[in-house]
Amino acid sequence: MKHNFGAGPGILPHEVLKQAAAAVVDFNGIGLSILEISHRSPEFEAVLDEAVKLVKELFSVPEGYSVLFLQGGASTQFAMVPYNLLPEGGKAAYLESGVWANKAIKEVKYFGEAQVVATAKEANFTYIPKDFEIPADAAYFHITSNNTIYGTQLHKFFPSPVPVVCDMSSDIFSRKVNVADFGLIYAGAQKNMGPAGVTLVIVKDEILGKSGRKIPSMFNYQTQIEGGSMYNTPPVFAIYVSMLTLNWLKSKGGVEAIEKENEAKAKVLYDEIDRNPLFKGVCVPEDRSIMNVCFVTENPELEKPFLKLCDEKGIVGIKGHRSAGGFRASIYNALPITSVYVLIDAMREFAENNK
Ligand code: PMP
Repeated sequence: MKHNFGAGPGILPHEVLKQAAAAVVDFNGIGLSILEISHRSPEFEAVLDEAVKLVKELFSVPEGYSVLFLQGGASTQFAMVPYNLLPEGGKAAYLESGVWANKAIKEVKYFGEAQVVATAKEANFTYIPKDFEIPADAAYFHITSNNTIYGTQLHKFFPSPVPVVCDMSSDIFSRKVNVADFGLIYAGAQKNMGPAGVTLVIVKDEILGKSGRKIPSMFNYQTQIEGGSMYNTPPVFAIYVSMLTLNWLKSKGGVEAIEKENEAKAKVLYDEIDRNPLFKGVCVPEDRSIMNVCFVTENPELEKPFLKLCDEKGIVGIKGHRSAGGFRASIYNALPITSVYVLIDAMREFAENNK
């Protein structure tokens, strides 16, 4: 058995994988695979409806918001957001809290100006900047709720005079959020929601249609809303597996219950990092992520031997991102706390053997 700490595509619940595997051969006993049915069939329409319903239920999405399942990953949203929300000659405010935020900022130049209100680049993104003003004349304010590479997370959202757009790719459905505080939320599915290939967008309808731009159909949120995420052929299988994963989350007690589990998992792991003389955390404690736990060995020469020990214990995916180094344990919703204890035991054994 493997303990999957990979940053994404990340771990999915085993029972979801079993259901998905069965549906590849025979979907709901209809004698056809989920991979070979029409997206316009009543069977798939029921899947999409259920997925939208689960998102609304799990996240208590208020009236006046649309839920979309799109393609192109979160990276396409980096461009789609300014394309739809930024008027010609306008500006948008961005918080530069990591590489993904930086990539989002880079896309704005095709449409207008990105005003970076604050950055943590000088500290290799090991904290979340908090002391800044959001310009009231910006079309929107863009943040990344969880910085997957560095292991920082926004534990409080900023009050904003303009609609807040949030990239929640790596912490969607890991904790409660008040959707009404956001103009638009987007997330690639492949960490907490499902497999790669589908991107969730939750958008407040009233912020759309104001940029005055002509937008090609596939890039236009309005077209996607009117088409019910089926303007073209949607990623049928990725939506199906996302629906199963959301259903699994509901059966576990929803976002509130998983948030408690996630906090418990993060706490035991950070406690060990702080206690163990061989390891140290990378980020400012108050901004530590409950999804991606980044740490290093005090002595860099111990990095390789620790990875080897992890490998022997079936711990996979903990090598840090190439731009951050060290280790990153991603402890997404589907990772059981028992796997976290296996990692902690390995850290203790390693410290014992390297006194
Ligand atoms: N934003 C964040 C916070 C991410 O972690 C990632 C992917 N790891 C992306 C954006 C890019 O997502 P995608 O690969 O789906 O375009």
